[in-house]
Amino acid sequence: MSAACQSCAMPLKQDPQGGGTETDGSLSQTYCSYCYADGAFLAPDITIAEMQAIGINALKAQGFPRPIGWLMTRGIPKLERWQN
Ligand SMILES: [Zn+2]
Repeated sequence: MSAACQSCAMPLKQDPQGGGTETDGSLSQTYCSYCYADGAFLAPDITIAEMQAIGINALKAQGFPRPIGWLMTRGIPKLERWQN
């Protein structure tokens, strides 16, 4: 089980749904509900840079300054989703 979503780096314990869903309806242990549902990515064509921008904005909305958001999203390119 991964501690963080392997697409956007959000800790899965912070996901109100507890994770994305697989095609059989079970919870994904890899991706969060914002990235993944019914066994597929919700934004299949998103780029790493776009994902990082979304992450920074989401953190900013939670009160984190931009440099913190940048720090917390800089690991995104290393996540499983982006390894191809
Ligand atoms: Zn995610």
